[in-house]
Amino acid sequence: MQASTLTLVFAAALVASLGLKFWLATRQMRHVATHRDTVPPAFAETITLAAHQRAADYTLAKARFGLLTMAFGAVVLLGWTLLGGIDSLNLALREAVQARWGDMAYQLALLACFAVIGGVLDLPFELYSTFRIEQQFGFNRMAWKLYIADMIKGAGIGALIGLPIAALILWIMGATGALWWFWAWAAWMSFSLLMMVLIPSYIMPLFNKFEPLADESLKARVQALMTRCGFAAKGLFVMDGSKRSAHANAYFTGLGASKRVVFFDTLLKKLSPGEVEAVLAHELGHFKHKHVIKRLVSMSAISLAAFALLGWLSTQAWFYAGLGVRPSVDAPNDAVALLLFLLVTPVFGYFVSPLFAQLSRRHEFEADAYACKQASGSDLAAALLKLHEDNASTLTPDPVYVRFYYSHPPASERLAALAHAALPQPA
Ligand SMILES: [Zn+2]
Repeated sequence: MQASTLTLVFAAALVASLGLKFWLATRQMRHVATHRDTVPPAFAETITLAAHQRAADYTLAKARFGLLTMAFGAVVLLGWTLLGGIDSLNLALREAVQARWGDMAYQLALLACFAVIGGVLDLPFELYSTFRIEQQFGFNRMAWKLYIADMIKGAGIGALIGLPIAALILWIMGATGALWWFWAWAAWMSFSLLMMVLIPSYIMPLFNKFEPLADESLKARVQALMTRCGFAAKGLFVMDGSKRSAHANAYFTGLGASKRVVFFDTLLKKLSPGEVEAVLAHELGHFKHKHVIKRLVSMSAISLAAFALLGWLSTQAWFYAGLGVRPSVDAPNDAVALLLFLLVTPVFGYFVSPLFAQLSRRHEFEADAYACKQASGSDLAAALLKLHEDNASTLTPDPVYVRFYYSHPPASERLAALAHAALPQPA
């Protein structure tokens, strides 16, 4: 391929994805704004007009800000690639670091500088989202001090974990011959699995407090449910999610024997014991239907394909030149190839993302159906409605927007399916 062909294909994909994103976002905004002043009939008795309007305003505020973030992201992406950002950074670091400290130090410095510059560029947007939008709608519970402490801790842990794994991948790229992409993939998968075990036990506790669930009657109820479903977990924990945000959640983490159930304190405060049980039954449904394993297997297949593609691209001169980088002749180009690949593939991946969203929505329906069998369907419906209201999720999303982005079906569809499951089934 010619370098100019790649430049053209990349630019065309970027423009097309921006156009599509803009079209979808404006559809969503128009749809939500049009339905702002009437609660949908199905929710007329359960949701007040004020709550409905708050959800609409929150959705609109996030969508408007999303457009700005999207435009800025595109400018940054062009800056790094076609406008020569990576090329200049690469040149500067090669001169400053490679001669004195060697190839590995230079490549790690390139990745680290890229990450730091990217983090600094994103910072104003994160600040605005947390301290303006989330604050305005009463979700943010963080003061500056906690935010900065989080940032420092996050950066430290990121460097502590990120640099060694980056060094390992770069070493594999340079030292293991033509099949390096396979070994790099194997290393990456092992690392990911290891992190799934380490993150809940060792890293999350650095940010939040986890206390064993103390409410004895709820504990007995949850344990009865788990026994009924044939499920073992290492413990039930309550996390102080309210430290940062009023959004409520519950999740499973870990693998195998290290699995644990975590409830946000915000969730326990909002839901009745029956509703907590139903939410947990839904999560158990994901395990029973093997959604977690399926996701893991498909992610590993996709990453194998990605590494194989990178293995081929990194040997093609047009891959670098077409994306605005002059490859080095007297230094390894592995870090540059990695960066370009990580920057550019999401632009193309965006067009297939609806397939994954659709699969995810189907999994949600399956988990809901499982929850109906193991716990109360009406409790689950009540819990969903409460969480929707508390999180200010709109009840009137644009249908096309939903098809494209939503990982969870909209409340109206989920509640309709639950109501249908509750009907006596024909013999
Ligand atoms: Zn789910």
